[in-house]
Amino acid sequence: MAEKFEFKAEIKQLLDILVHSLYTHKDVFIRELISNSSDALDKVKMLQLRGEKITNEKLDLEIDIKIDKDKKKLVITDTGLGMSRDEIVANIGTIAHSGTGEFIKHLSKSKKGGKEDVSELIGRFGVGFYSVFMAAKEVKITTRSYKHGSKGWVWTSDGSSSYSLDEAPKSTKRGTKIEIFLREDAEDFADKFRIENTIKKYSNFVNYPIKVDGEKANKVSAIWREPKSSLDSDKYNEFYKFLTNRDEDPLTHIHISADMPIQFNSIMYIPKTNDEIFGYRNEDYGLKLFSRRVLIQDENKDLIPEYLRFIKGVADTEDLPLNISRETLQENAIIFKIRTVLVKKLLGHLKEIAEKEPENYTVFWQQFGRIFKEGHNDFANMDRFSELLRFNSSSLKEEKDLTSLSEYVDKMAKGQEEIYYFSAPSREAAEQDPHLEVFRIKKIEVLYLFDPIDEFVLTSLNKFQEKQLVSADQVDLKNLKGVKDDKKS
Ligand code: ADP
Ligand code: MG
Repeated sequence: MAEKFEFKAEIKQLLDILVHSLYTHKDVFIRELISNSSDALDKVKMLQLRGEKITNEKLDLEIDIKIDKDKKKLVITDTGLGMSRDEIVANIGTIAHSGTGEFIKHLSKSKKGGKEDVSELIGRFGVGFYSVFMAAKEVKITTRSYKHGSKGWVWTSDGSSSYSLDEAPKSTKRGTKIEIFLREDAEDFADKFRIENTIKKYSNFVNYPIKVDGEKANKVSAIWREPKSSLDSDKYNEFYKFLTNRDEDPLTHIHISADMPIQFNSIMYIPKTNDEIFGYRNEDYGLKLFSRRVLIQDENKDLIPEYLRFIKGVADTEDLPLNISRETLQENAIIFKIRTVLVKKLLGHLKEIAEKEPENYTVFWQQFGRIFKEGHNDFANMDRFSELLRFNSSSLKEEKDLTSLSEYVDKMAKGQEEIYYFSAPSREAAEQDPHLEVFRIKKIEVLYLFDPIDEFVLTSLNKFQEKQLVSADQVDLKNLKGVKDDKKS
C-alpha cells in the first residue's frame, strides 16, 4: 500500500515557483540529477575502497540515460548507493540542500517577487533535485540502498503538494532510477541530441560513464585531476581546444595540484592570440569552476584578477559545495586562497617563460602586454609583476625590441641612480625630442613609453629595485652630472 506524505510548507512554496517559473535554462535539472548520481557513485566507490559489503557488488559504476521520444519521458539510472525509506523521506522531502535553503531565504526577502526576480534566483542558486519539476509533470524515483537486506522503494510526485511512497519490486537493483514524465513545454528534452549537448555543457568531466541510449556521452576526462606525468602536450592541447572551442594550440599551460593550504587542481592556459579586439573589452572571461568534477560556474571571475583575464582554464576543489551561490563565492575564503596561489603561480610561470623561452614571452607580451599592464594595482604581487614588464628603449635597435626593468638596471651607467622613461607617440618622435638630448649625449638609456597606460604603470611602481623611476622631461639635471658615459659592461 502506498503511503502519502505532504511536502513541508517551504518545499510547497519552492515547487510552486519551479512549476510556474519562466526560467529559460531549464536544462540545469539534468546537471543537478547527474551530479546527484555522481555523488552517489562516489560514495559507493568510497565504501568499496573501505571493503564494506555492498548489495549488487558487481554492478558497473555508471549513469544511464534512456529517452522515450513517444512517451516524452526520460529515465536517469545510476548504480550509486541508493536510498533507504528513511533516507528518501529525509533527503527528498526536506531542504537539506544548502542552495535551496538560500534560495528560499532570498525569496522571502525579495521585495518584488516577480517572475524575473525568481528566474534570477534560480539561476543564482540552483535548486538541487527539485529543479526537475521545471520540466516534469510527474517524477518517479525507484531506489534501493547498498545496505544488505534493504528493500527498494518507489517515490512518486507530481510536484504539487504531496508525494507517495511504496515498496519497489523485489528485482530492484542497487542505485537510483529517476523517471521523468516531461511537461508539454519541456517535451523537447526527449531528444538525444539535446541531452548529449546538455551533458557536454555541464557534466562532461563527470568521473563515470554517462550513457545516453547506450552511447557514452561524456568523452573528455577531468585531466586536471590526473597526474602530470600521465599527460603529454597533445592531451593538454586537446583539452584546451575543447575548453575554448578553438582550433589553435595554446602558447603555454600550467597544471597545479595543491593539497596545502587548500585542496585544488587547476589547469590554466595562455592563448596564442588575444580575443580582445582593439578597444573592445571582453567580459566573457573567467575560469571554469568545478566541485569534484561537476561544473559549478562557467566563468568564475573571482579566481583571477582582471589583468589576467586572457587566461583560460579550470579549477576544481573538493572544498566547495556544488550549489554555492555567486555572492557567497565572491566572499569565499577558499576562493580567495586559491586565487592567491593561482596568481603567484601564473606570474612565476611567466617569469620562467621570459627566461627560458624568450620568443614565446615576446608573443605573450605582444598579445597580452596591454591587458597585463592593468595589473599595476596588484600591490601584493608588485615585485613579480614589475619583473614581467617590457618596454622599448633608446638603447635598443628597433621599435619592436624590448627590455625588462632588471635588464635596464644591469646596464645602468656608473653613477646613474635613477631609471628614466619618456612618453612619446612613436620611437621616431622620442628620438627627435629635445628633452632627450642630454640623455643621448651621455648615452643614458631611456625607456620609451608608447602606450598611454605605461605612465600609470611606472608612476604607481614609483621605484624598481630601489631605483626611482623618473620621467626624462622632469629629471633634475644635477642627478645626471655624475653619470659616466662609459658603460659598466
Ligand atoms: P544536494 O545534492 O545538494 O544534497 P539535492 O536536492 O540535489 O541536494 O539532493 C538531496 C539529497 O537527496 C542528496 O543529498 C542525496 O542524499 C539524495 N539524493 C538525490 N539524488 C540521489 C541519487 N541519485 N542517489 C542517492 N541519493 C540521492
Ligand atoms: Mg544535488
